[in-house]
Amino acid sequence: MPPMSAVMPTYARTDLVFERGEGAWLFTASGEKFLDFGAGIAVTALGHGHPHLVEALKQQADALWHTSNLYRIAGQERLAERLVGASFADCAFFANSGAEALECAIKMARKYQSACGAPERYRLITFEGAFHGRTLATISAGGNEKHLEGFGPPVDGFDQVPFGDIDAVKKAIGEETAGILIEPIQGEGGIRTVPWRFLRELRALADEKGLLLLFDEVQTGIGRTGKLFAYEWSGMAPDIMALAKGLGGGFPIGACVATSQAAKGMTAGTHGSTFGGNLLAAAAANAVLDVVLEPGFLDHVQAAGLHFKQKLAAICDENFDVVEDVRGEGLLLGFKCRVPNADVVAAAARQGLLTVPAGENVVRLLPPLIVSDAEIDEACGRLSRALAELAPAARAAR
Ligand SMILES: *Cc1c(COP(=O)(O)O)cnc(C)c1O
Repeated sequence: MPPMSAVMPTYARTDLVFERGEGAWLFTASGEKFLDFGAGIAVTALGHGHPHLVEALKQQADALWHTSNLYRIAGQERLAERLVGASFADCAFFANSGAEALECAIKMARKYQSACGAPERYRLITFEGAFHGRTLATISAGGNEKHLEGFGPPVDGFDQVPFGDIDAVKKAIGEETAGILIEPIQGEGGIRTVPWRFLRELRALADEKGLLLLFDEVQTGIGRTGKLFAYEWSGMAPDIMALAKGLGGGFPIGACVATSQAAKGMTAGTHGSTFGGNLLAAAAANAVLDVVLEPGFLDHVQAAGLHFKQKLAAICDENFDVVEDVRGEGLLLGFKCRVPNADVVAAAARQGLLTVPAGENVVRLLPPLIVSDAEIDEACGRLSRALAELAPAARAAR
């Protein structure tokens, strides 16, 4: 590809072009081989070229692609039933991305309070370090100055409090509060796990004050943490949950699922999407669920995650000049660096290992959920070599 491109330069891209993928592996046109532990940012949950997904999309592509939501869509209804059957929710709305799933969640929380006779309750409490997408409302919810800069006044209706601070949440609740929005584990923020106890405290607080609890499981959902949804670890459930990333296994689809109570304001005409949950997207997501819901699949994710985390802890010990700590659950893992995380991502890529940077100077490791122990061991070898390369400079700098 030519060095300059007509694509708007909103991304700091690595100069790599992939042509083919197979499971946890990606191949460039010149035949270079990479272990893909970024999975398209936690999207290709079943790896590249999974035969069941490929077959499902091919069959759907032959039959019918798109009809719009003016008509019933059998695959979408089946997908909704399955998400509902496997979660706390009673119904699902389909969108095309994580940010859109969050837009539905935010609108639904406001509409719920309005339908309850309290339209003045439209504000959501959010947390520092959060990431909810790049639309105008979701950058306001995330509150990251870098994302807001230059885009005019932030959308009103979000009150941000420090991470994990229950007293700050209590103080922030006012007459206009509609609900609380949180990621069970902050992904972009740096794989920051919210203590499960804290989530239970939020649940109790929401119930006490008549607020809705909204979970952003765009990154943590669809098996990433070893449960189908991360909230399951906490022993309680939210009222509304946003999903995307792994849901389509690489096909763009987002979903917002909710209890029928929380969704009571979402009547005909209140919300919509032209593409949301079309036949191709629903076929892809149903095929992902076929595999992820198979007995034993999530056990594999948990076992692989444990194996990986133990090996990472050892690597962390051996490379304490470069690595500060290891964090995460299941196959949503990461480590905090003592050198710029971009240097670690680049050194790993030179060893043929793809990783993803995150906030707090963290490097994320998000292999496809089908990853084998042998591939994890291979990735750890490559990561060790990358860290060893950075160690002398890191030691000199300390
Ligand atoms: C990626 C992500 C989003 C945004 O998803 P897009 O598909 O990029 O709009 C929202 N919330 C979380 C937690 C995410 O990880």
